[in-house]
Amino acid sequence: MTVSPDRRFAEAERIVAHDGVHAFEAVVPPIAQTSLFTFADTAAMVDVYAGRVRRDVYSRTTNPTVALFESKMAALEGADDAIGFPSGMAAISGSVLAFVTPGDRILCVRHVYPDAYRLFETLMKRLGVTVAYVDGCDLAAVEAALPGAKLLYLESPTSWTMEAHDVGALARLARRHGAMSMIDNSWATPVFQRPLSLGVDLVLHSASKYIGGHSDVVAGVAAGRDELVAHIRRTICPYIGAKLAPFEAWLLLRGLRTLPARLRLHEEAALTLAGRLAEAPGVTAVHHPALAGPLPPGLAGTSGLFSIVVDETIDIPAFCDGLRLFKLGVSWGGHESLVVPALVTHVQAAGPNSALDFGVPERMVRLHAGLEGTEALWADLAQALAAAARP
Ligand SMILES: *Cc1c(COP(=O)(O)O)cnc(C)c1O
Repeated sequence: MTVSPDRRFAEAERIVAHDGVHAFEAVVPPIAQTSLFTFADTAAMVDVYAGRVRRDVYSRTTNPTVALFESKMAALEGADDAIGFPSGMAAISGSVLAFVTPGDRILCVRHVYPDAYRLFETLMKRLGVTVAYVDGCDLAAVEAALPGAKLLYLESPTSWTMEAHDVGALARLARRHGAMSMIDNSWATPVFQRPLSLGVDLVLHSASKYIGGHSDVVAGVAAGRDELVAHIRRTICPYIGAKLAPFEAWLLLRGLRTLPARLRLHEEAALTLAGRLAEAPGVTAVHHPALAGPLPPGLAGTSGLFSIVVDETIDIPAFCDGLRLFKLGVSWGGHESLVVPALVTHVQAAGPNSALDFGVPERMVRLHAGLEGTEALWADLAQALAAAARP
């Protein structure tokens, strides 16, 4: 049997391949675990401070291990440059803060990552920035709400509800109305969606998910044109101090080596499981972009995160507790399968901290298909669903 090559992965595979030989002839780049870099003499230091020579001075600003990760992310996204952050939320808040000022309005697609929503509803509002939400599938509604907006903030597919948008059409609308556009591309990764090539200005990632891929690092990254990334480097990173650390960057470089290989497996597993769950008793809806019809233009594949809605015949806590391979936990994008019921977010929203409710249906359950093997994962889901069925 011959397996036809899947050309979707070819460019990413080339970029994440080894980068030649490093110091000590190491195949893995040695980590520059250092806070500062010294100078041979004062003249050398003066050259750097005068802007005549560019080199590393202090790791809050630049570090070679971080720079190698940033250059790989820029190549993957087809960007001039990229900048690493210590979390996905730091990438989101830092990028938004770099480009909005009091009095500005942000237009945001509905169902974005819950903490991005909370950032907009709390800190941004306190800074005098207003945020309006719109259905990203409804281009007419987006166009009607765009005039006067400084920023169109996108995420596709959206968190929990998995609404996949025509990102190119949204970017064109933003440009026509003079708004900058940003997208959270954590779900698709640059392997399946390259938003800059679709006209989006800035791409953001929670690198804690597929980029890292091993659930052992929290990090973020923003990528785009030189002048936009330089603006973030100059105006936000030195003073907010939110810089990716060398060890995290080193873990991310390790994770990137297998990004295309892992995504092949996540895609296949999630597609199979989602298709079977759509036929399963008690499951009333499956939210997976590939099950909603053809993928929107620009989205070349699907990853491992999707959600289901179950009816009253399924005891949701019993289902979650009955799973053995799917562990109960937030986050996703690692090697392991995960489950999280929306009911926990409803409990949180009703609690004393009154975390803002972001509108996920109560009977929704989010699943991440990991690398344990599709048939083993299906057996786990099937036994847990059967055991959770109310008589
Ligand atoms: C996890 C996540 C984030 C936040 O990233 P952190 O690394 O946890 O700060 C942002 N967007 C999406 C879609 C996420 O899943």
